Amino acid sequence: MALSVLDVFKILPGRNCRDCGYATCLAFATAVIKDGIPIETCPHLSGEADSIAPGLKKQQKAGIGRRRLKIDMAVEALIEKIAPLNFSSIAPGLGATYKTVGEKPYLELSYFGSLYRIFKNRIDYPPDADDNPWDTVLLYNFVYSRGNSDPTGKWIAMQDLQNSVSKAADIRELQQRLASWADTHFDGLLKNAEKLAGRPGPPDTRADFSMLFYPLERVPVWVIFYKSDPAEGFPADAQFLFDSRIISYLDMEATVYLVERLVDKLTAA
Ligand code: SF4
Repeated sequence: MALSVLDVFKILPGRNCRDCGYATCLAFATAVIKDGIPIETCPHLSGEADSIAPGLKKQQKAGIGRRRLKIDMAVEALIEKIAPLNFSSIAPGLGATYKTVGEKPYLELSYFGSLYRIFKNRIDYPPDADDNPWDTVLLYNFVYSRGNSDPTGKWIAMQDLQNSVSKAADIRELQQRLASWADTHFDGLLKNAEKLAGRPGPPDTRADFSMLFYPLERVPVWVIFYKSDPAEGFPADAQFLFDSRIISYLDMEATVYLVERLVDKLTAA
C-alpha cells in the first residue's frame, strides 16, 4: 500500500526547526509525498527512516501519491493525440484486438500478461493490476506510436540508440538492481520469470539465465543474467536487450519505464 503524508510525518523528528526549508515537519512530509522531495533533505532523521526509504523512493519514482498535475497533463495531451486514430486499422500492428462497446471503439491489449481496455478517453485496468498511473502514459504512448513493423532479429542495447546517454545510465542502474538481487535469489528469479511467461532466449553459453519477456506483445525484452564468480573476481551482471525496431513502438523514456516495471516483477518477493 502506498505511503501517506501521515506515514512520513510519523517518522520525522517533529522539531519544526525549518532546516529542510519547510516551516513544519508536516509541511515537509506533504512535500515528500506530493512533490517527490527526497526524505534525506531533513538532516535530523533517525534510523526509522531507513525502514521506509526504499519503498518511498520507488513510490516517488512511480509518481504514486504525487500531485497529479504532471500525469494528468501528460494523459490529456496523449488523449488529444490519439483521438483521430483509427483503432481498427492500427490494432494488428500493435498486437491488439479491436473491439467496441456500443458505439465506442477500444483496443484490448495484453500488458504484462493482463488485458487492458484502451478507450480514446480512458484506460480500464484489469482488476489484478497495480494502480500505477504511469502505465496509462506508457500505454497511450504505445498506441500513439501506431508501430507496425516486424522484429528485425537484431538485438541492441539502450546505448546503441542515438542520444541515449542518460537513459542508458538508467538502464544500467536497473541492470545492477536485478543482478544484485538475482545473485542471492536465483530461484526467485526463475519463479518470477515463469509467472511472467518468459520464453527461452537466444543461446548464450556464459549466461546463467537468458529469457525473452513480452511486456507488450510487439516489444520483447531479452534479459540475460550472469551470477557472480567470487573466485575469479567477477560481480553478478545483467543485460537488457531490445529488438532494433523498439523505437518504432516506444520512446526511450517509456522504454526505461517498461524495463523498470519488468525488474519490479522479476525481483518481487
Ligand atoms: S528539518 Fe526535519 S525536523 Fe526540521 S522541520 Fe524539516 S522535517 Fe522537521
